[in-house]
Amino acid sequence: MIIEAVASGSATTRSDLSTLLKLSPSTVSVRVQALLENNVLREAGAGKSKGGRRPQVLETAGTPSTFAAIDMGGAHVRFGVFDTQGNLLASWEASLDLSLPPRDVLSSALDSLTGADLDVDLDATLRGISLGVPAPVNQELQRIDVGARMAGWTHFPIREWMESHIDVPVAVENDANLMALGEARHHPEIERSITVKAGAAIGSGIVVDGKIYHGASGMAGDISHVRSHRSTDRPCGCGNIGCLETIASGVALVERARANGMSITSLPELVARAHEGDSAATTLIRDAGRALGEVLCSVVGFANPNALFVGGRLSTLEIFIASIRSELYGGCHPLVTRNLLISQATLGADAGIYGGFELIRDTVFHLPDLIH
Ligand SMILES: [Zn+2]
Repeated sequence: MIIEAVASGSATTRSDLSTLLKLSPSTVSVRVQALLENNVLREAGAGKSKGGRRPQVLETAGTPSTFAAIDMGGAHVRFGVFDTQGNLLASWEASLDLSLPPRDVLSSALDSLTGADLDVDLDATLRGISLGVPAPVNQELQRIDVGARMAGWTHFPIREWMESHIDVPVAVENDANLMALGEARHHPEIERSITVKAGAAIGSGIVVDGKIYHGASGMAGDISHVRSHRSTDRPCGCGNIGCLETIASGVALVERARANGMSITSLPELVARAHEGDSAATTLIRDAGRALGEVLCSVVGFANPNALFVGGRLSTLEIFIASIRSELYGGCHPLVTRNLLISQATLGADAGIYGGFELIRDTVFHLPDLIH
């Protein structure tokens, strides 16, 4: 990418960038101009001529910029602060109660961010914030239109509220999409990937050529309400019966474990039991992996990605990944799985904040195509 190439000194003129990044001179010119206008790069005078006019040497601008990513999950919110090059400068976690009014949740998140004890001066350097939410996001209006777990947020103007309280650009995105973007950008050689977030809830994101595919109403990748033949009579939060969410989500697993007499109250406890080799916990988690794998057969067969990444708390269990893998190998056309990478997400709990950083940096620089 241009910023890294200039910062590292591997290319310091527009023509060097064009050669190094295999971009046309006009594309480089437009993108460099945007970075100059945003004070990310500056011109440092004329360099050596290679025949003809002496080219302007580019360097990174003096004032460092930082970007913050806030990734809200079911019960916790994770924060990350990054520099322009994408180095994670600090990360931390706080508890979260999504049933509170959005104003309260957002102002406590902003307090946690601005009050954090950091080595960088956020006041002077912060250029933008991304917010990941566990609900589909209306991309145009940057708000939640329908969110089963965020009922009080319906139509709340999230971006406007935040921008009026912190005065930097804000980008709102679905949490699974951010995890998918973080994973995809971490593997730039993989052009098409699907990332599943398997935790308390199930979500997934699709990234093609470095960009999130949203679909017509921001619902692309939302596999939690696909019907599974393993379904029970348990109604889903969406109003239907038989959704994958009611069988394979962490919430459903904890409920089933308790109904079977297991004395646990949360998904982390169930996962810990499985890590310890508890057979009842392992069986539940293997069945969940199979149910998810069955649904993913259709998804993967239809979309034909290069990679399927599995993140979220359930993905820490090899039996879960193995169950998904065996369903895919058993149920997909061999051409679909022949070169398909099926892997645990590599960024772990930080995938969402890395994706959030990528999103807000792209947004601030108005350069969705710039970097990848
Ligand atoms: Zn449903």
